[in-house]
Amino acid sequence: MTAPHRVVAVPDVPAAVLGWRTWRVGRRAQQRHVLFSPLTGTPWPVARPMVAACASPRHTPPGDTCPCGLYAVADTTTLGWSPSDHEVLGVVALWGEVVEGERGWRASHAYPRFLLTGPGISPEQRAVVARRYGVGVHALDRSPRDLARTLARPAADALRLATDPADVADLLAEATRRREPVVPAPRRRGWRSWLTA
Ligand SMILES: [Zn+2]
Repeated sequence: MTAPHRVVAVPDVPAAVLGWRTWRVGRRAQQRHVLFSPLTGTPWPVARPMVAACASPRHTPPGDTCPCGLYAVADTTTLGWSPSDHEVLGVVALWGEVVEGERGWRASHAYPRFLLTGPGISPEQRAVVARRYGVGVHALDRSPRDLARTLARPAADALRLATDPADVADLLAEATRRREPVVPAPRRRGWRSWLTA
């Protein structure tokens, strides 16, 4: 297992805010293992934080009166979805500058913690995405949109705030009453490696 390409100094990650959000996995051959922001189509980098951008030169994201920043929500039922079967649900760590809003947060820095994928994502894609991003990728027998709409808030909170990635599979099984296949996060990679770097 190789180390992350670049170890970033993220002193405030232990205080990261954890929220739900969606990504889209690419359809084209070169993009099948890349996470994209569903709305902007921005690819998320591997083994380094996603950093928010804004067209305004007057502030750095997230702006107080500007909608810029990397989004996450507390309640999965408030997430917006496209009709794409390539959208995935997951928990993201937000840190740096974080602005709290009504539904959740906007932040300057983010990295995925784990992903929940539907039948539209192949086992091969799950395996490669898990290895590349260093996060656990769980398979659902339904669309992640359906899970997001029906996940009870206590179960969603338990999943969102799970401190040990190994607990996610158990919590997911409890929430869905079904044991889902999982590609576990590779050791010594992903966001947890930053905490001890
Ligand atoms: Zn802005």
